[in-house]
Amino acid sequence: MRKLLVLFLSFVTAMAVAQDIDANTAAKAITAAGLKEHLSIIAGAEMEGRETGTAGERKAAAYLVSQYKKFKLKPGNNGSYTLPFKLFQDKVVSSTLKVNGEPYTLDKDYWVNATSVPQTSFNTNAVIFVGSDFNDKSTVDVKGKLLVATESKERSMMKIMAAQKLGAAGIIIIANTNPTNASNLTGRLSITAASSTFISMTVSKALGSRLVGGSKDYTDQELADVPKGVFSTTIDWVTEHNNTEVPSADVLAVLPSKEKTDEYMFITSHYDHEGIKNGVIYFGADDDGSGTASVVAIANAFSQASKKGFSPKRNMVFMNVSGEEKGLLGSKYYSEHPVYPLEKTSVDLNIDMVGRIDPTYKGDSTNYLYIIGDDKLSSDLQPMTDKVNQHYNLELDRKYNDPKDMNRFYYRSDHYNFAAKGVPVIFYFNGTHRDYHRPSDTVDKINFDLMEKRVRMIFETAWDMAMKEDMLKRDLPLNMPPSR
Ligand SMILES: [Zn+2]
Repeated sequence: MRKLLVLFLSFVTAMAVAQDIDANTAAKAITAAGLKEHLSIIAGAEMEGRETGTAGERKAAAYLVSQYKKFKLKPGNNGSYTLPFKLFQDKVVSSTLKVNGEPYTLDKDYWVNATSVPQTSFNTNAVIFVGSDFNDKSTVDVKGKLLVATESKERSMMKIMAAQKLGAAGIIIIANTNPTNASNLTGRLSITAASSTFISMTVSKALGSRLVGGSKDYTDQELADVPKGVFSTTIDWVTEHNNTEVPSADVLAVLPSKEKTDEYMFITSHYDHEGIKNGVIYFGADDDGSGTASVVAIANAFSQASKKGFSPKRNMVFMNVSGEEKGLLGSKYYSEHPVYPLEKTSVDLNIDMVGRIDPTYKGDSTNYLYIIGDDKLSSDLQPMTDKVNQHYNLELDRKYNDPKDMNRFYYRSDHYNFAAKGVPVIFYFNGTHRDYHRPSDTVDKINFDLMEKRVRMIFETAWDMAMKEDMLKRDLPLNMPPSR
């Protein structure tokens, strides 16, 4: 008797709630306290700053998986909650350089960067001296040639970029003053084993003089007087590399749809951060512990709503990627190996830094959010955002939609890899602050009340996009200068 009664009652309860559940009510499952609980774990000392490929990163991934299991969400990658991928790290183990048959010493005569040395060897019988004012408008034909330039007020990076743009094999810059740092022989993590083939090097004035025909060490004036043009200089450069594999993984969970089972939408964050440097933990509470705690809280709220009758029209994918701080690598990997077709992916809502206040924000700093990207790719993004915001009244600041914005935030988080493949995106962001990418980006500085409001607004936007009859229109151009 009792059992039957219980069953009968729960049946009635389920029926009643199925009619009641709406986005605004469901959003209340997202609370400041809940966000703090998740973030305190994600950005806690145990996670060691979550650097890509480290034990701390794996602990953070395990925590995320445990939460999605707890919420009874489905594994997002063919039965698994993770999408493993390999990164490669290049290290230069040795470098032997001879100029006109004479050997020169690394960090005494020349300085390099792991990303700008040849893979095995480089030989040439000639260099082109381009002087001090070399730029990409220079008229000399440098295609495939090794250039030599003198250092000037203009940053060396500009000369390197100019040489690359004109198709040179590389550029050697004669330093005014020798660098005091040792060469950086450890390359960046990359999703392909092959590293760049463009050569760049800084050399002492003594070696620089040899490169441009001098049998003695030139003075600054003598170097300035060297005529531009081709010099018959022999360069034999041999390097040895050690390329190691660094395993990493994105985390994915799904709330399946019963209706449009071949359509998807994404809510994303990056769970990696900078790890430990010189023994100091970079906690990354705002960046992007805040977005990651948000995705977990949003997933939980949808999971709870689904128990009360919510059923999305398309599959909802909650994804936390890694490798963001190393160059958006986890999302890049996903966009190149998508588990679900990108053309059937309606939208990516990417949350990266939503727990803090930008000290330069001009309006009501306790009630704002930067919205980036909602003027591109789909004309559905903006009205849907504004409609939801009617009952949140956040100041939605869209100033970073300006393609001329110097910060280039549109390129600086994982949504970009979706946008580059044509998937409409919105990037939710609080701006930067003095703790950005510093060990002081800690949980105690998060404004959880403001974060709660922001995350509820994102949740409701996701709800509307999940329930929209059709996928978001793809009717606008990207309208941004190409990524560098
Ligand atoms: Zn960051």
